[in-house]
Amino acid sequence: MSELNLILLGPPGAGKGTQAERLVADFDLPYYATGDILRAAVKEESELGKEAKEYMDRGDLVPDEVMCRVVVERIDRPEARDGFVLDGFPRTIPQAEELGEALDNLGRHLTAVLLIDAPDEEVIRRLSGRRVCKDKGHVYHVDFDPPKNEGFCDQDGSPLIQRDDDKEETVGKRLEVYAAQTRPLVEYYANWAKADPKNAPVVRRIDGMGSVEDITARALAALADC
Ligand SMILES: [Zn+2]
Repeated sequence: MSELNLILLGPPGAGKGTQAERLVADFDLPYYATGDILRAAVKEESELGKEAKEYMDRGDLVPDEVMCRVVVERIDRPEARDGFVLDGFPRTIPQAEELGEALDNLGRHLTAVLLIDAPDEEVIRRLSGRRVCKDKGHVYHVDFDPPKNEGFCDQDGSPLIQRDDDKEETVGKRLEVYAAQTRPLVEYYANWAKADPKNAPVVRRIDGMGSVEDITARALAALADC
Protein backbone atom coordinates (compact mmCIF):
# COMPACT_ATOMS: atom_id res chain seq x y z
CA MET A 1 0.00 0.00 0.00
CA SER A 2 1.21 3.51 -0.76
CA GLU A 3 0.82 6.29 1.80
CA LEU A 4 -2.65 7.18 2.99
CA ASN A 5 -2.41 10.72 4.29
CA LEU A 6 -5.97 11.46 5.22
CA ILE A 7 -7.81 14.49 6.54
CA LEU A 8 -11.25 14.10 8.07
CA LEU A 9 -13.73 16.93 7.68
CA GLY A 10 -17.28 17.27 8.85
CA PRO A 11 -19.50 19.22 11.19
CA PRO A 12 -19.30 18.63 14.95
CA GLY A 13 -21.42 15.60 15.82
CA ALA A 14 -21.08 13.95 12.41
CA GLY A 15 -19.17 11.08 14.04
CA LYS A 16 -15.65 11.86 12.86
CA GLY A 17 -14.01 10.58 16.04
CA THR A 18 -15.90 7.27 15.97
CA GLN A 19 -15.13 6.72 12.31
CA ALA A 20 -11.51 7.74 12.79
CA GLU A 21 -11.04 5.01 15.40
CA ARG A 22 -12.36 2.43 12.96
CA LEU A 23 -10.34 3.71 10.01
CA VAL A 24 -7.05 3.79 11.90
CA ALA A 25 -7.67 0.23 13.10
CA ASP A 26 -8.51 -0.92 9.59
CA PHE A 27 -5.60 0.85 7.87
CA ASP A 28 -3.20 0.51 10.82
CA LEU A 29 -2.35 4.20 10.85
CA PRO A 30 -1.82 6.70 13.66
CA TYR A 31 -4.73 8.96 14.56
CA TYR A 32 -3.93 12.61 15.10
CA ALA A 33 -6.80 14.41 16.77
CA THR A 34 -5.63 17.97 17.27
CA GLY A 35 -6.55 18.24 20.96
CA ASP A 36 -4.82 14.94 21.77
CA ILE A 37 -1.54 15.65 19.99
CA LEU A 38 -1.42 19.15 21.46
CA ARG A 39 -1.82 17.73 24.97
CA ALA A 40 0.80 15.07 24.19
CA ALA A 41 3.29 17.72 23.02
CA VAL A 42 2.73 19.71 26.22
CA LYS A 43 3.18 16.58 28.33
CA GLU A 44 6.40 15.62 26.56
CA GLU A 45 7.74 19.07 27.43
CA SER A 46 9.39 19.38 24.04
CA GLU A 47 10.44 22.88 22.98
CA LEU A 48 7.35 22.99 20.81
CA GLY A 49 5.16 21.73 23.63
CA LYS A 50 6.51 24.44 25.95
CA GLU A 51 5.83 27.07 23.32
CA ALA A 52 2.25 25.88 22.88
CA LYS A 53 1.75 25.74 26.64
CA GLU A 54 2.63 29.42 27.01
CA TYR A 55 -0.37 30.33 24.88
CA MET A 56 -2.63 27.84 26.62
CA ASP A 57 -1.60 29.07 30.08
CA ARG A 58 -2.54 32.60 29.07
CA GLY A 59 -5.90 31.31 27.84
CA ASP A 60 -4.98 32.21 24.24
CA LEU A 61 -5.56 30.08 21.18
CA VAL A 62 -2.45 28.30 19.97
CA PRO A 63 -1.53 30.15 16.74
CA ASP A 64 -1.97 28.36 13.41
CA GLU A 65 1.74 28.29 12.78
CA VAL A 66 2.51 26.60 16.11
CA MET A 67 -0.38 24.14 15.76
CA CYS A 68 0.81 23.28 12.28
CA ARG A 69 4.28 22.50 13.62
CA VAL A 70 2.72 20.27 16.30
CA VAL A 71 0.89 18.35 13.56
CA VAL A 72 3.84 18.12 11.20
CA GLU A 73 6.20 17.00 13.96
CA ARG A 74 3.96 13.93 14.38
CA ILE A 75 3.61 13.33 10.65
CA ASP A 76 7.40 13.32 10.38
CA ARG A 77 7.73 10.41 12.85
CA PRO A 78 8.34 6.82 11.65
CA GLU A 79 4.89 5.83 12.96
CA ALA A 80 3.30 7.95 10.19
CA ARG A 81 5.52 6.67 7.40
CA ASP A 82 2.61 4.84 5.74
CA GLY A 83 0.15 7.59 6.46
CA PHE A 84 -2.03 9.14 9.13
CA VAL A 85 -5.56 10.21 9.90
CA LEU A 86 -5.75 13.88 10.84
CA ASP A 87 -8.83 15.26 12.58
CA GLY A 88 -9.35 18.85 13.72
CA PHE A 89 -6.67 20.48 11.59
CA PRO A 90 -6.93 22.28 9.24
CA ARG A 91 -10.12 24.06 10.26
CA THR A 92 -9.60 27.13 8.08
CA ILE A 93 -8.18 27.88 4.65
CA PRO A 94 -5.10 29.67 6.05
CA GLN A 95 -4.40 26.56 8.16
CA ALA A 96 -4.79 24.38 5.09
CA GLU A 97 -2.29 26.53 3.20
CA GLU A 98 0.12 26.36 6.12
CA LEU A 99 -0.21 22.56 6.28
CA GLY A 100 0.21 22.16 2.52
CA GLU A 101 3.46 24.08 2.61
CA ALA A 102 4.79 22.21 5.63
CA LEU A 103 4.02 18.84 4.02
CA ASP A 104 5.68 20.01 0.83
CA ASN A 105 8.82 20.70 2.82
CA LEU A 106 8.72 17.12 4.09
CA GLY A 107 8.23 15.81 0.57
CA ARG A 108 4.81 14.51 1.56
CA HIS A 109 1.36 15.30 0.26
CA LEU A 110 -2.20 14.67 1.28
CA THR A 111 -3.82 11.65 -0.31
CA ALA A 112 -7.46 12.19 0.53
CA VAL A 113 -9.94 14.45 2.25
CA LEU A 114 -12.94 12.60 3.61
CA LEU A 115 -16.00 14.68 4.39
CA ILE A 116 -18.44 12.97 6.74
CA ASP A 117 -21.56 15.01 6.27
CA ALA A 118 -24.72 15.32 8.34
CA PRO A 119 -27.52 17.89 8.23
CA ASP A 120 -27.64 20.57 10.93
CA GLU A 121 -30.87 19.32 12.51
CA GLU A 122 -29.39 15.83 12.92
CA VAL A 123 -26.21 17.18 14.48
CA ILE A 124 -28.23 19.32 16.88
CA ARG A 125 -30.35 16.31 17.85
CA ARG A 126 -27.31 14.10 18.41
CA LEU A 127 -25.30 16.60 20.42
CA SER A 128 -28.00 18.37 22.40
CA GLY A 129 -29.39 15.01 23.58
CA ARG A 130 -26.07 13.94 25.02
CA ARG A 131 -25.77 13.56 28.80
CA VAL A 132 -22.61 12.79 30.68
CA CYS A 133 -22.30 11.39 34.18
CA LYS A 134 -20.73 13.86 36.54
CA ASP A 135 -18.38 11.40 38.22
CA LYS A 136 -16.91 9.21 35.51
CA GLY A 137 -18.02 10.75 32.23
CA HIS A 138 -20.21 7.81 31.13
CA VAL A 139 -22.14 8.98 28.08
CA TYR A 140 -25.89 8.67 27.42
CA HIS A 141 -28.37 10.09 24.95
CA VAL A 142 -31.89 11.08 25.91
CA ASP A 143 -33.34 9.46 22.74
CA PHE A 144 -30.82 6.90 21.50
CA ASP A 145 -29.34 5.58 24.74
CA PRO A 146 -31.35 6.76 27.75
CA PRO A 147 -30.40 5.68 31.30
CA LYS A 148 -32.84 3.45 33.23
CA ASN A 149 -33.48 6.22 35.77
CA GLU A 150 -33.87 9.55 34.07
CA GLY A 151 -31.09 11.92 35.04
CA PHE A 152 -28.83 9.32 36.72
CA CYS A 153 -25.98 7.11 35.56
CA ASP A 154 -26.79 3.38 35.30
CA GLN A 155 -23.29 2.40 36.34
CA ASP A 156 -22.63 4.56 39.38
CA GLY A 157 -25.83 6.49 40.10
CA SER A 158 -24.19 9.89 39.78
CA PRO A 159 -26.21 12.72 38.22
CA LEU A 160 -26.14 13.21 34.46
CA ILE A 161 -25.31 16.65 33.17
CA GLN A 162 -25.33 18.36 29.80
CA ARG A 163 -21.91 19.72 28.90
CA ASP A 164 -21.85 23.37 27.84
CA ASP A 165 -20.47 22.28 24.45
CA ASP A 166 -23.59 20.18 23.87
CA LYS A 167 -26.17 22.85 24.75
CA GLU A 168 -28.35 23.67 21.78
CA GLU A 169 -27.28 27.32 21.51
CA THR A 170 -23.59 26.32 21.70
CA VAL A 171 -24.07 23.61 19.08
CA GLY A 172 -25.76 26.22 16.86
CA LYS A 173 -22.75 28.51 17.24
CA ARG A 174 -20.31 25.67 16.55
CA LEU A 175 -22.24 24.88 13.37
CA GLU A 176 -22.10 28.53 12.28
CA VAL A 177 -18.33 28.58 12.78
CA TYR A 178 -18.04 25.31 10.87
CA ALA A 179 -20.13 26.66 7.97
CA ALA A 180 -18.18 29.91 7.79
CA GLN A 181 -14.62 28.65 8.31
CA THR A 182 -14.26 24.91 7.84
CA ARG A 183 -16.85 23.88 5.28
CA PRO A 184 -15.16 26.10 2.62
CA LEU A 185 -12.19 23.71 2.83
CA VAL A 186 -14.17 21.18 0.80
CA GLU A 187 -14.27 23.60 -2.11
CA TYR A 188 -10.68 24.65 -1.49
CA TYR A 189 -9.45 21.07 -1.86
CA ALA A 190 -11.82 20.32 -4.73
CA ASN A 191 -10.52 23.36 -6.64
CA TRP A 192 -6.97 22.33 -5.95
CA ALA A 193 -7.73 18.83 -7.26
CA LYS A 194 -9.10 20.34 -10.45
CA ALA A 195 -6.08 22.58 -10.95
CA ASP A 196 -3.39 20.09 -9.93
CA PRO A 197 -4.72 16.51 -9.82
CA LYS A 198 -1.24 15.06 -9.42
CA ASN A 199 -0.46 16.76 -6.11
CA ALA A 200 -3.85 17.54 -4.64
CA PRO A 201 -5.75 15.12 -2.43
CA VAL A 202 -8.91 13.51 -3.74
CA VAL A 203 -12.04 14.78 -2.02
CA ARG A 204 -14.68 12.23 -1.06
CA ARG A 205 -17.99 13.02 0.60
CA ILE A 206 -19.97 10.40 2.47
CA ASP A 207 -23.34 10.50 4.16
CA GLY A 208 -22.96 10.52 7.96
CA MET A 209 -26.53 9.36 8.56
CA GLY A 210 -27.33 5.82 9.68
CA SER A 211 -25.55 3.27 11.84
CA VAL A 212 -21.87 3.50 12.74
CA GLU A 213 -21.29 0.27 10.73
CA ASP A 214 -22.99 1.69 7.63
CA ILE A 215 -20.96 4.87 7.78
CA THR A 216 -17.71 2.91 8.19
CA ALA A 217 -18.61 0.80 5.16
CA ARG A 218 -19.20 3.98 3.16
CA ALA A 219 -15.91 5.48 4.33
CA LEU A 220 -13.93 2.36 3.39
CA ALA A 221 -15.62 2.21 -0.02
CA ALA A 222 -14.89 5.90 -0.60
CA LEU A 223 -11.22 5.41 0.25
CA ALA A 224 -10.76 2.05 -1.50
CA ASP A 225 -9.03 3.47 -4.56
CA CYS A 226 -7.01 6.19 -2.85
ZN1 LIG B 1 -21.32 7.06 35.44
